[in-house]
Amino acid sequence: MSLFFTAVIFILGLCIGSFLNVVILRLEKSESIGGRSYCPHCKHPLTWFDLIPVFSFLFLGGKCRYCKAKISWQYPMVEIGTAVIFLLITNDQLPITNMAGLLNVLFLFYISSSLIIIFVYDFYHYIIPDIVLFPAIIVALPFHVSWNYLLAAMLASGFFLCIFFVSHGKWMGFGDVKLAVLLGLILGLPNILAALFLAFFFGAIIGVSLMLLNQKGLKSELPFAPFLILGTFMALFWGPEILNWYMGLFIV
Ligand SMILES: [Zn+2]
Repeated sequence: MSLFFTAVIFILGLCIGSFLNVVILRLEKSESIGGRSYCPHCKHPLTWFDLIPVFSFLFLGGKCRYCKAKISWQYPMVEIGTAVIFLLITNDQLPITNMAGLLNVLFLFYISSSLIIIFVYDFYHYIIPDIVLFPAIIVALPFHVSWNYLLAAMLASGFFLCIFFVSHGKWMGFGDVKLAVLLGLILGLPNILAALFLAFFFGAIIGVSLMLLNQKGLKSELPFAPFLILGTFMALFWGPEILNWYMGLFIV
């Protein structure tokens, strides 16, 4: 990938990431996406100078220019995260030679944007917003309408549905059951298995660490969607490598 093309995709990712932050904020306040951006603390309207991805955060020292309230690290992290994921997607799909290739990249940009919103929203609020999840499922269906993907969606959501029923919704929310449909449709078989394995692996490490640090008691819940989405991105980019490594553990 040329340096110029890399820079273009990276800047596009930063701008989309900035937009995703707006969507997350408006979802929290149940507002429409349109209208001018404002500081969530003092409600002062923001100018273009306050809205440059990452740079505004750095120039302003992580504080609102008007009321000096701290700006959440969520903003630059979502922007940089989106940019990095867009770069990985583009790099994965090169060379793009026809319309179908271009359409597939745009599809993955859209799906990953939806997953980033769900990641942040579930992390803070323990809720997976249907208004973001359902359109993504509807878009993913025609792109991946084959038994491989449908079976992955059914297996993953069926698995979570079992956990949901067995634990009476305590170990896994119903939102995770619905999210698993989307993840199966994106990854297909066998990549979905790599994503689930990674999600439980990271979930266990963080869960046990928090318990040891006494941050979370045994009974308090940990949002699971962020782990599922982290596992999905890793499986999307390195699925076969992860599965090969995992299988290699059993073949000596
Ligand atoms: Zn302010």
